[in-house]
Amino acid sequence: MTMFHVKHNVIIIGSGPAGYTAAIYLGRAGLNPVMVTGALSPGGQLVNTTEVENFPGFPEGILGPDLMDRMKEQAKRFGTTYIADDVSSIEACESDSVKPTYRVTLSDDSQLEASSLIIATGSSFRKLGVPGEQELSGHGVSYCATCDGFFFRNKPIVVVGGGDSAFEEALFLTRFGSSVTLIHRRDSFRASQIMVDRAKANPTITLMTNTVVTSITGTSSPTQNTGAPIAIPGLTLKRPAVAPASVSSIAVRNMVTGEESTLDTNAVFVAIGHTPATDFAAGVVDRDDDGYVVVQGASTVTSAPGIFAAGDCVDRTYRQAISAAGMGCRAALDTQAYLTD
Ligand SMILES: Cc1cc2nc3c(=O)[nH]c(=O)nc-3n(C[C@H](O)[C@H](O)[C@H](O)COP(=O)(O)OP(=O)(O)OC[C@H]3O[C@@H](n4cnc5c(N)ncnc54)[C@H](O)[C@@H]3O)c2cc1C
Repeated sequence: MTMFHVKHNVIIIGSGPAGYTAAIYLGRAGLNPVMVTGALSPGGQLVNTTEVENFPGFPEGILGPDLMDRMKEQAKRFGTTYIADDVSSIEACESDSVKPTYRVTLSDDSQLEASSLIIATGSSFRKLGVPGEQELSGHGVSYCATCDGFFFRNKPIVVVGGGDSAFEEALFLTRFGSSVTLIHRRDSFRASQIMVDRAKANPTITLMTNTVVTSITGTSSPTQNTGAPIAIPGLTLKRPAVAPASVSSIAVRNMVTGEESTLDTNAVFVAIGHTPATDFAAGVVDRDDDGYVVVQGASTVTSAPGIFAAGDCVDRTYRQAISAAGMGCRAALDTQAYLTD
């Protein structure tokens, strides 16, 4: 086991928009942040998407991986040190002080110590786990209506799920889709009755119950996503010469009759829940029943002194890059106040 006998000011856990924004602020405050980026998906959820059109400052849009590279460079410029690993646990070192030191253990068993921590580990959306889902993710399969609904104007859209989020997404998507079909595996919904009533009253929405999606099919389209690179000073956005496949249909099965059929659609929005990546913090900070870190009011203060939390691991409502970045800023300012108090 490697033990670093350096006590850092602050360790940021997670390298999404929340983590990088916190790092930029803390770096500029001279606090030399250390960031544990996550081993599997440094850069966070946006690394797995294509165009991001709603992050301010990029009027032509920007590819998700390029946006995250820019955030990384910006945080590095102000002195952030990166460690490409996962945190497996955190604990308070024994101390009489009201401001404990925290020990962070990484997946290779090495350990770090810091006066404060920012948890910015995001959440992962639950997947359907059917053929075609992974291959067509970002090309018609989406987990975020706010992010991607705009791309499917006048196209048939499917939403999968039976809770409030699925209904909210379906209602929101009626602004864009020529039709919205909500598919749910049971005959009753977890969603509140008012949401179900609203959906039933909306002529664009069809509810398909007792039904599961069994596969998603795509076709290549030479007319989509092609064209000249987008010119942004200092950055070339690469557009593929040949467009990747995009969703064309799904196969479904009726859970009661067993009947299989095909449904034409250009978009599948999967809304079956999220899992916050916070298990490593269990028992150290308070989490709610679904694993979201609990913070005090509008702050990023957790139940443990000196531990702050930001982004999708806290926020079950907004789940946007800009809202995560905004919360990362607040976590940095809360940390700065704690360290200098
Ligand atoms: C396909 C897709 C498309 C999207 N499109 C848009 C869009 O167009 N516009 C928009 O505003 N939002 C979009 N979103 C939502 C947006 O990506 C998220 O709201 C945002 O990334 C949340 O930021 P975050 O910093 O909280 O967490 P994340 O981006 O989830 O980052 C979490 C980080 O924590 C790391 N991590 C996790 N566990 C550990 C651990 N134990 N140790 C160390 N590191 C760990 C991960 O590796 C990751 O780097 C999209 C999401 C998806 C999935």
